[in-house]
Amino acid sequence: SYISKKKKLFQIQFADQKQEFNKRPSKIGRRSLSRSISQSSTDSYSSAASYTDSSDDETSPRDKQQKNSKGNGDFCIKNIKQADFGRREIEIAEQEMPALMALRKRAQGEKPLAGAKVVGCTHITAQTAVLMETLSALGAQCRWAACNIYSTQNEVAAALAEGGFSVFAWKGESEDDFWWCIDRCVNVEGWQPNMILDDGGDLTHWIYKKYPNMFKKIKGIVEESVTGVHRLYQLSKAGKLCVPAMNVNDSVTKQKFDNLYCCRESILDGLKRTTDVMFGGKQVVVCGYGEVGKGCCAALKAMGSIVYVTEIDPICALQACMDGFRLVKLNEVIRQVDIVITCTGNKNVVVREYLDRMKNGCIVCNMGHSNTEIDVASLRTPELTWERVRSQVDHVIWPDGKRIVLLAEGRLLNLSCSTVPTFVLSITATTQALALIELYNAPEGRYKQDVYLLPKKMDEYVASLHLPTFDAHLTELSDEQAKYLGLNKNGPFKPNYYRYGNAFLFSSYFDRPVGGSRDNRVKKETNI
Ligand code: NAD
Repeated sequence: SYISKKKKLFQIQFADQKQEFNKRPSKIGRRSLSRSISQSSTDSYSSAASYTDSSDDETSPRDKQQKNSKGNGDFCIKNIKQADFGRREIEIAEQEMPALMALRKRAQGEKPLAGAKVVGCTHITAQTAVLMETLSALGAQCRWAACNIYSTQNEVAAALAEGGFSVFAWKGESEDDFWWCIDRCVNVEGWQPNMILDDGGDLTHWIYKKYPNMFKKIKGIVEESVTGVHRLYQLSKAGKLCVPAMNVNDSVTKQKFDNLYCCRESILDGLKRTTDVMFGGKQVVVCGYGEVGKGCCAALKAMGSIVYVTEIDPICALQACMDGFRLVKLNEVIRQVDIVITCTGNKNVVVREYLDRMKNGCIVCNMGHSNTEIDVASLRTPELTWERVRSQVDHVIWPDGKRIVLLAEGRLLNLSCSTVPTFVLSITATTQALALIELYNAPEGRYKQDVYLLPKKMDEYVASLHLPTFDAHLTELSDEQAKYLGLNKNGPFKPNYYRYGNAFLFSSYFDRPVGGSRDNRVKKETNI
């Protein structure tokens, strides 16, 4: 049964999963108080595709009285009439979120979240809707606000409201609306949350600030983003974290899929949508050969681009060489390349000096952290002219007529200009659901007031739930083999320090297999 499987899954040794307070998360995101796509939740991703209309109706949702077809008005969204359209969006997302759908099936009759009252603050998209409806099928009640003022798909929010969910979100909220929506989720008579699902930490911090007593009933926090996780570690370090928290961001499956596979898919999409560029034969320099850089390079190489890589780390640099890329310094190729892509998580990688030397028509974009990698501010000088040629596309023109094509003003290209594959979000959403189930059902004492990583067994479970999509057939260990390797037949199959290799580098274009390379992140060893 589901429960016995679940119990098996969750009867895991947790001591070694506990992350010490003084171990910082691997990447530290910064977010300013005023939210924008670029700065808020730069480390969590939502599908940027919203077909939400920017309808002429300028009335603030806060001034509207709306009810769903059952007469329920406990929500605040743009327009309940868009519900049917939103429902279709959710159904499309369901196709690519097999693990959540599998959890729903397994939950029939068994409700591991019965009695759970989950307050959530995430991007409100079709994929989130699939998660919310799964949590509901597992027995939870949900109230939800958006973690980003721009990313809400209004039609999806409408479908959720029509389905009876208390959703407070719309695309284009003001700063004041943003906090008002969060407050409407938690400050409600006769309902108190006992679980938090957060993306960025704003909801958690709102409750800390305004309703600290609520934590008496809260069993745990599940946090998805780098920024939010960082804030949790800060709280924990200061001895102020009063409930257990799960760091979903650093789970193996999320990292691998968000950074590597997601970028491998979305780099081409982002470039194509904004510039219609043809990739074959183009010279591209990718700065940083970590997970994101590897994904971008693989995709571009497969399209026939000539790819150069810059790196500061000799190990990643060697990986790039072994994968068949030319390792260069940026100044060696900056005059000749057609496209520059930053993926370092660092700052000022492309500075004015390089921008000055680029050739006419060079495309410049960023796939790494926030908007720090390209020194865009240095382009805002009187001698340069900016021309907005398309949404998210600026031509920056030098006095001699040379122009560069700057995408999304240096913010994350895929987040700003393309979609993120639903399948990737499925992995994260499944991880979130399992983390909620685990924290909600954990026996007293299993978790303390600390930040925890997901047990590896759970990561394996998330992966296994996605395998049927590919009609993949997993080999089972024989008793003899399990004994030989010293493993439990049901996992976990790897020690915590295991670094999953990037056995993905391929080159369908050149039709030759390229050997798998190893994950470069030594730091992960301490985290997983
Ligand atoms: P990573 O640490 O694995 O890789 C970054 C690489 O850049 C490292 O190998 C590092 O040595 C190298 N580097 C640092 N400074 C450099 C410099 N000045 N020049 C050349 N190389 C340099 O990190 P990652 O997982 O690849 O993530 C990179 C960034 O992308 C992070 O900021 C992360 O938050 C962001 N990210 C973006 C997406 C997206 O969808 N666009 C998804 C996940 C992560």
